[in-house]
Amino acid sequence: MANKSICVYCGAQNGAMPEYEHTARAFGKLLANRGWRLVYGAGGTGLMGVLANAVQESGGETFGVIPKHLVEWEMSKTDVTRYVVTETMHERKKIMFTNADAFVALPGGAGTIDEFIEVLTWAQLLLHRKPIILFNDEGYWDPLVELLNHVVKQGFAKESLLTLFSTCSTLNETFHTLDSIEHPIDFAKS
Ligand code: AMP
Repeated sequence: MANKSICVYCGAQNGAMPEYEHTARAFGKLLANRGWRLVYGAGGTGLMGVLANAVQESGGETFGVIPKHLVEWEMSKTDVTRYVVTETMHERKKIMFTNADAFVALPGGAGTIDEFIEVLTWAQLLLHRKPIILFNDEGYWDPLVELLNHVVKQGFAKESLLTLFSTCSTLNETFHTLDSIEHPIDFAKS
């Protein structure tokens, strides 16, 4: 199976339920077992830290990208396979975007929502066709799905907006979608 790079957006905090952490850990393990690379925000805290540690513990590759003003604040993980410190948040997002074959949003806060919405709007503007997955762990993203449906119903987006991302409730469903990516970027060159 070809190597793939999966960009995961998730909380810099753990969230209120232990299930979120369990899923982040299991997700990281599955990613590493497939030989895929994690692209993420290099944070060492919350679900971000749990996820990256799980990938590393299972022998997987990690690519962390963080702006310099957050290096200490987010207790950045400098022991990732590849560590990039950027000048700005925008550079961080761009590097994460360019180096990923797909995007997955696990539960998270405003930062995670921002990142998910950005790649979704870029897909809406035909800037890319990379798969976007909303991992609806424990129904966490139900209100966001409801909001996006509301946006469509009220005529502020075409129905097609809802086809630009997949909502997955289980790891199986998520990895089934990721398995179907056919032409991953060559991450040895990225
Ligand atoms: P949060 O979901 O708020 O816990 O944040 C998760 C990650 O998203 C953290 O690494 C934040 O630095 C990052 N983040 C927060 N705001 C933004 C933003 N506007 N653009 C990109 N990343 C962000």
